Amino acid sequence: MKMRALITGGAGFIGSHLAEGLLENGYEVCILDDLSTGRLENVRHLQNNPKFELVIGTVLSESLVDKLVEQSSCVFHLAAAVGVELIVKKPLESLTTNIKGSEIVLEMANRYRKKILITSTSEIYGKNTNGPLKETDDRILGSPLKARWSYSTAKAVDEMLAYVYWKEKGVPSLIVRLFNTVGPRQTGAYGMVVPRFVEQALKNKNITVYGTGKQTRCFIHVKDVTSALIKLVGVPNTEGEVFNIGSQEEISIEDLAKEIIKLTKSKSKIMHIPYEKAYEEGFEDMQRRVPDTSKINKLIGFKPTYKLSEIVMDIVRYAKAK
Ligand code: UDP
Repeated sequence: MKMRALITGGAGFIGSHLAEGLLENGYEVCILDDLSTGRLENVRHLQNNPKFELVIGTVLSESLVDKLVEQSSCVFHLAAAVGVELIVKKPLESLTTNIKGSEIVLEMANRYRKKILITSTSEIYGKNTNGPLKETDDRILGSPLKARWSYSTAKAVDEMLAYVYWKEKGVPSLIVRLFNTVGPRQTGAYGMVVPRFVEQALKNKNITVYGTGKQTRCFIHVKDVTSALIKLVGVPNTEGEVFNIGSQEEISIEDLAKEIIKLTKSKSKIMHIPYEKAYEEGFEDMQRRVPDTSKINKLIGFKPTYKLSEIVMDIVRYAKAK
């Protein structure tokens, strides 16, 4: 069978870069996107490619997903409601899209026995501030009534579904947990910090640092993520496995703001905003999030190639060209 990848959520930030990477690697690519957070402009440059197909529709449509999975040799399931701010604002939608959507896609992968990669998230680890976090580490979560944790829980259900579809039914599924992935085409509209800070810096507006700014994250360039995803589906014996993907270059959010101000030569000042104003009363943030990536490193020689300053400059170039 020819190599034909289905990417659910393919018009999104990560999906559109993955589509480019798969086309470069000789795949035919079909993307399914309902354009809720994905954008046509992310994939417009691919539309003249005869090996590329765009289907506008939802992963919640069983008949559509049935047809598209049957036509594909493998599936990358990226369609999800993501972004902390979006999840806090629309928790019901995020729960249903994330759980029902994954269930439908996995059921079709089962029906046609197709390899399926499920994208999960570092939110899985919740408030576990140990570092670096290993795939087998504990999840530490707050109350399920706090919207943020509903996303972590929905994604955990996705992971469990993928795992048991493999264990009980033999579906060749694997899971990746993506840590703070950034790059061109990411929008700040759903809360993501780097595109926001870049946009604020370029407009010489205040940089909105939430909380103390001492919380840390590790940012990875989307191209390093998508090339790892493409390699991963190509290697055998990964079924039923879960892999962290992320950078280990840790930086506090306040230092990130300073670095972006410096790199853009901006006149912006840092403005601290309490969490309850930024999100909602009682909002809980992760103080630290660093991945242990030794498992994927051992398997495919995974190592991020972009330094933080290079990532920021790539985003700056994109934001200026918009
Ligand atoms: N953040 C911030 N200002 C913003 C947006 C986010 O200080 O305008 C903080 C946020 O509270 C978190 C970090 O930046 O501590 C990363 O946020 P993001 O939503 O990008 O990712 P996640 O929280 O999922 O790591």
